[in-house]
Amino acid sequence: MKYIGAHVSAGGGVENAPLNAYGIGANAFALFTKNQRQWNAPPLTAKSIAAFNANCEKFGFLKEMILPHDSYLINLGHPEGEPLAKSREAFLDEMQRCEQLGLKLLNFHPGSHLQKIEISKCLTTIAGSINIVLEKTKGVTAVIENTAGQGSNVGHVFEQIAEIIAQVNDKSRVGVCIDTCHTFTAGYDLRVEEAYKHTWTKFGEIIGFNYLRGIHLNDSKKELGSRVDRHDNVGKGLIGIELFRMVMQDDRFNNIPIILETPDETLWAEEILLLHSFE
Ligand SMILES: [Zn+2]
Ligand SMILES: [Zn+2]
Repeated sequence: MKYIGAHVSAGGGVENAPLNAYGIGANAFALFTKNQRQWNAPPLTAKSIAAFNANCEKFGFLKEMILPHDSYLINLGHPEGEPLAKSREAFLDEMQRCEQLGLKLLNFHPGSHLQKIEISKCLTTIAGSINIVLEKTKGVTAVIENTAGQGSNVGHVFEQIAEIIAQVNDKSRVGVCIDTCHTFTAGYDLRVEEAYKHTWTKFGEIIGFNYLRGIHLNDSKKELGSRVDRHDNVGKGLIGIELFRMVMQDDRFNNIPIILETPDETLWAEEILLLHSFE
């Protein structure tokens, strides 16, 4: 079965996210469990947690199909001690919020070397961050999102993600989310069947489908290999509609959250209907 949703607003409290997801006809969703542009946030209240659980139950959302995203400020591969410690602390807080909400996954961008350290050192730092946080939490998987490779962001090459996973001690709680826009602008083509097959074969060989925990399903405003991260709506960008049809007919993406992060939110309900029509 395909579980499709979007990264919906949790404005006014996390309990509003399942309502917003239900409103667009989703059976999966992503959310921020705190303001994604601030370091500190008040803890989740018991009331908010109870309302979140009640709304997930009421609207039929499985906790396994919810893919929270961490704050954009966090850099788990930071080259300097103090900001790295701050990032690790903030990431631990995010993992604990997921634990409190009964969520199973936390999606994050691996990190950036900021031109100050070697890529390999950055990857080791990221794995170290994951190890620290997994030791202090239970039941939540750290889900590494592939990047477009913009600036000094690592994780645009499948081998780099495999390298991080190789250095994580608890392999049962590390996973991967593939963002189709990032994949394309990182240089992996997805436009036609042959290219699509080739890219996913590479993913399977280098990382492995056993680590796949979610998909961010986006079109791209930027060209193949441009290493620029600009999402576009379904079929409106440079990847094109064929990708979306192929994903929906691909059994390897059953039973994981498939999340739209397309820029025009007013199209989400329509996009979800269109995607289901391809099944
Ligand atoms: Zn992301
Ligand atoms: Zn994404």
